Amino acid sequence: MVVLVTGANGQLGQSLQFIAKNYPELHFVFCSSSDLDITNLESCQAVFLKIKPNYCINAAAYTAVDKAESEPEKANLINVIGPKNLAAVCKEFSSVLLHISTDFVFDGSKNIPYNETDIPNPTGVYGQTKLDGEKAIQAVFENYYIIRTSWVYSQFGNNFMKTMLRLASERDSISVVNDQIGTPTNAVDLANALIQIILTDNRQPTTDNFGVYNFSNEGQCSWYDFAKEIFKINNIKIDLKPIPTSSFPTPAKRPKYSVLDKTKINSTFGLEIKNWELSLKRTNSI
Ligand code: NDP
Repeated sequence: MVVLVTGANGQLGQSLQFIAKNYPELHFVFCSSSDLDITNLESCQAVFLKIKPNYCINAAAYTAVDKAESEPEKANLINVIGPKNLAAVCKEFSSVLLHISTDFVFDGSKNIPYNETDIPNPTGVYGQTKLDGEKAIQAVFENYYIIRTSWVYSQFGNNFMKTMLRLASERDSISVVNDQIGTPTNAVDLANALIQIILTDNRQPTTDNFGVYNFSNEGQCSWYDFAKEIFKINNIKIDLKPIPTSSFPTPAKRPKYSVLDKTKINSTFGLEIKNWELSLKRTNSI
């Protein structure tokens, strides 16, 4: 079974590369942005013709949330046209598409976990392009799994955990917002969940399971709580101050609350999702 991974050098892509050896029954083909530009339909067709994947995991994306506010065309190209191209070639080659979306499709006005049927209402360009990317796939075909996730971190690439560790090495004091609530997601846990979806799909082929799913680790916290736990686990003593979002203005508005309800993915694929603190402890952060 051939699994193509786009955006292979991003943090999810690298996490998939990290766990690939645990699944000898799967033949992975990892494509970086220079091997496969998802915004180029001919490039997608050429790769699919060569490797004929059974599954395509789209780990490629434009993820610069604040920069997207001033680069909407670029964000749109990568987050909407890219997934649309992949859906088109998946349809042509009878492949299943696994695409990653985000909690930022929601406006954060709820105070109980978001489920897959809640109405999206993005507050910024990034969230809007990710939502439009979901819709672009849905307009092409039905053989997709769209997995919305949140607050992704790992030992790979750029993420909040690595930023906190870097800042702690440069400063004596750090201020972090404590009024945005969500759930951190270890990219390696997300990568394993994607593989479980593929294995289940391959074992029991059915069109019933295609659709939109939430995945994050379990539990919830603020960015301040997340930072506090990162420093605790890494034995870092630092003056960490909680601040309101109003004291840390950013170009893109973020949802105040974006905890995701994982009932659907748990019951469909029998996943055992780890608590975020436990998963953070197991991360090799150095
Ligand atoms: P990264 O930013 O770490 O990686 C994205 C990758 O996409 C990079 O390797 C980049 O390559 C590649 N890429 C960009 N443009 C193209 C292109 N035109 N063709 C092919 N590849 C391209 O993202 P993450 O791994 O963190 O995110 C994975 C998914 O999870 C994304 O869909 C994201 O929207 C979603 N997500 C992420 C969250 C987070 O906190 N990070 C939160 C919620 C959802 P290059 O560097 O060469 O440009």
